[in-house]
Amino acid sequence: TEACLAAIDAADALGAFVHKTPEIALERARAADTRIKAGDAPDMCGIPVGIKDLFCTEGVPSQAASKILEGFRPEYESTVSGQLRDAGAVMLGKLNMDEFAMGSSNETSVYGNAVNPWRAGNSDAALTPGGSSGGSAAAVAADLCLAATGTDTGGSIRQPAAFTGIVGLKPTYGRASRWGIVAFASSLDQAGPMTKTVRDAAIMGAAMMGHDPKDSTSAELPVPDFEAMLTGDIRGKVIGIPKEYRMDGMPAEIEALWTRGREMLADAGAVIRDISLPHTKYALPTYYVIAPAEASSNLARYDGVRFGYRAKLAQGDGITELYEKTRAEGFGPEVRRRVMVGTYVLSAGYYDAYYNRARKVRTLIKHDFETVFNEGVDAILTPATPSAAFALGQKFDDPVQMYLNDVFTVTVNLAGLPGLAVPTGLDAQGLPLGLQLIGKPWEEGELLNIGYALE
Ligand code: GLN
Repeated sequence: TEACLAAIDAADALGAFVHKTPEIALERARAADTRIKAGDAPDMCGIPVGIKDLFCTEGVPSQAASKILEGFRPEYESTVSGQLRDAGAVMLGKLNMDEFAMGSSNETSVYGNAVNPWRAGNSDAALTPGGSSGGSAAAVAADLCLAATGTDTGGSIRQPAAFTGIVGLKPTYGRASRWGIVAFASSLDQAGPMTKTVRDAAIMGAAMMGHDPKDSTSAELPVPDFEAMLTGDIRGKVIGIPKEYRMDGMPAEIEALWTRGREMLADAGAVIRDISLPHTKYALPTYYVIAPAEASSNLARYDGVRFGYRAKLAQGDGITELYEKTRAEGFGPEVRRRVMVGTYVLSAGYYDAYYNRARKVRTLIKHDFETVFNEGVDAILTPATPSAAFALGQKFDDPVQMYLNDVFTVTVNLAGLPGLAVPTGLDAQGLPLGLQLIGKPWEEGELLNIGYALE
C-alpha cells in the first residue's frame, strides 16, 4: 500500500487518481495485516485497489467526474466497493473517468483527461487510455494499484483495458449489483474488474459479484470459484468467429491480431467455427438510442436540490431557473447531448419511431447470440476495439467518430452477455491491442478460462 501511494504521488501527470485516500488506505492495510496474521484472509485481503469515481464510497467524494456532483460525499457505500472492502481490499482513492461514464477517451471528465502510460514508438504525443474507465486503466497499466474497478455500459471496461494492455471483464447483466453506482443506462450498466492478468480478474471478479437484494435486477445465483476454473484446458470448446465483425477498413494489424487469436485457441485444442450475427450492423445506432434514453431519465434527479452543485440564482428566478441554470452549468457538453437525444427519442411523437424500434432491434441482436449459443458455440472471439489507443484530442470534436470506437463492444451490453478483453499483442508502433471474448450468460468462469489460454 505504501509503495502504491508513493507511485500515485509520483504519477500525478497521468491524471488517473482524482481523489486520493491515503488515510483510509493505511488504516485498511493495517487491518488487513491483522486479518492475515489471524489466518482470516480472503483473496482480496491487503490488495491495494483503485475505485472508479462512479462508485459511491462512504464519506469520500464520489462525483462521477461531473461538476454537478461537486461536494457530494455519500453516506453509503456501493454494494460492489463494499464487498471489496469487506474482503480486505485496500482503497487507494477514486479514479478518473468520462463524465457520468459517457465517452470513450476519458476526455469528458470535469477533472481533465487521464493519460495512457503507453507511447507510440518514439513519439511523445499523449494518448488516450480509453474510456470511460480511463483512470482505472491508466492506474493499473502504470502500476499505481494492483487492480481497479470499472463499469461498462457499452464498452467502458473492455475498450480502456485493450488500449492499455490490461484485462477487463464485463459480467453478465445482473451478476454484479448496481446499487450505489451512479446510474448511466440502467439496463446496460455492469461493474467489473480491471486487472493485470486473467487470474486477477477471476479473483477480483468473484469478490465483486453476487446477489444483492438492494438491486432488483441482481441475479439470485451462486458465484463459482472462478480461479479454480482456470485450468487452461479448452479442448473441444467451440469458438465462433462472427463474419459481421470483419468491418470495412479494419486496420490490417487488427485483422492479424484476430487471426493470431484464433490460431492460439486452435493450438490449445478449441474448435474454430465461422458464425453469423446478422443484426450486428444495427447495434451502434440501437445503443445510441437506448443508452441516451435511459440516461435522460436517470439524470433527471440532478436538479440542484437533492445532490451536489446548485447554480447561483438571480433576483426573480424561480424553480425553473434553478433547474435550467444548475443543469446548464453542471453538465458538460457530452452529457447535455445525451440528455437531449434521450429526451427526443422518448418524446410522444418519436417514441415509436426511435425508442420502441431500438428495443425491438435489441431483441433481434439478443436472438442472434442465443441462436449461435444454441447451436453449440461456447464463446465468440472478436477484436476488442477497431484500433489501438488514439491521440488525445483526435476524436474529441467528432462524436460520431468517438461512438464508432464502441462498434465491437456495445452488442454485448445490449444482449446482457459477459465480455472479456484480453491483451494479446502490440501493434507496429508498440501499442497494446486486445481481443474480446463473448460468453454465454452466467458463464464468466468458462470465459475467463478461455481468456487464460489467450494470455
Ligand atoms: N463509450 C460508450 C458511451 O459513451 C460506452 C460508455 C460506457 O460503457 N460507460 O456511451
